[in-house]
Amino acid sequence: MKTVVAATRNRHKIEEIGEITGRFGMDIISRDEAGVPPVEIPETGKTFEENSYIKAYEIMKLCGRITVADDSGLVVDCLDGAPGVYSARFGGFEGLWPDEDNAKADSADTPDGDNNAKLISLIKDFPYEERTARFVSVITMVFPDGRTIVAEGAVEGHLILEERGCAGFGYDPLFVPEGYDRTFGELGQEIKNTISHRARALQALHEKLEQEID
Ligand code: IMP
Repeated sequence: MKTVVAATRNRHKIEEIGEITGRFGMDIISRDEAGVPPVEIPETGKTFEENSYIKAYEIMKLCGRITVADDSGLVVDCLDGAPGVYSARFGGFEGLWPDEDNAKADSADTPDGDNNAKLISLIKDFPYEERTARFVSVITMVFPDGRTIVAEGAVEGHLILEERGCAGFGYDPLFVPEGYDRTFGELGQEIKNTISHRARALQALHEKLEQEID
């Protein structure tokens, strides 16, 4: 089984990535397990693609092994695409987007409860039909020889105005994926891992890896 280092320290993401990649013979270890020092990698990109590459490349340089990074977030239509790449720290600044001036100062992740409360306050006046959103994940795999593989996945859904369910993390308790009437927080990992943005991105990555090997 091939061992790949996950650039993230988010335990939930590592579990999700590991569960999915295990199905196609890839063993995931965390950056801590790979002996990477606990340095912060600033996510200075303006797109999921840029941030995903920055994380994978920087961690690959520190451990010298094949590294995979996910950059993901929630894109809400009635909020012009916010919080997008700022999903992890949405609760830490006013309005839809961080100011250029204080983007750095506000760069720490904020608790899921704060992010969800802010999201609810911004979407509460929109009717359900207009509360459409998607989770997006861009996964980048960087090899020590410089080869890079990028794959993307998304899952469409609607947002509700109260948290439901406690599985998963982040915005899961507010997100009802298309074709279901329960949130990711209620549906649980087994279902989430078959339809999520991350599962789809990893599946696309797997297909690209197979082409690479053939
Ligand atoms: P990242 O770690 O910089 O990629 O930030 C991802 C952020 O997007 C997380 O902190 C969550 O707020 C949100 N997010 C990404 N994927 C999910 C998911 O599967 N469920 C819920 N929230 C997610």
